[in-house]
Amino acid sequence: MDCLFCKIAAGEIPSDCIYEDEKIFAFRDIDPQAPVHFLVIPKVHIESLDALKDSDAGLIGHIFTTIRDLAKKEGLTGGYRVVNNIGKDGGQSVAHLHFHVLGGRSLQWPPG
Ligand code: 5GP
Ligand code: ZN
Repeated sequence: MDCLFCKIAAGEIPSDCIYEDEKIFAFRDIDPQAPVHFLVIPKVHIESLDALKDSDAGLIGHIFTTIRDLAKKEGLTGGYRVVNNIGKDGGQSVAHLHFHVLGGRSLQWPPG
């Protein structure tokens, strides 16, 4: 399958990886929008949150507890933001489920 994030998770395309286990992969965004900006993805190809199956609930829970741990490791003591873009109207540009984690500065809401 010709998927950029599948290739990154497999190590076929280099990335600045900050965490990996048998199910998930976390790496720094190539175009950071905050001092800390990394992406957390499942290794299995899932197109978006909209394509999740009920049986993926454990995987998503694992992604979120890992985000909590990585945010601590990255020193995001003041808080951080988790973003998931879904589909065309949601601004998703890579069709492999990914959660953005942003922090290291005060983030505005709504995002500018
Ligand atoms: P989306 O717009 O789909 O929610 O987010 C895709 C993100 O992937 C963007 O923030 C973009 O900067 C990042 N990205 C795209 N291509 C690459 C790449 O080759 N390497 C890394 N590390 N990030 C990428
Ligand atoms: Zn993929």
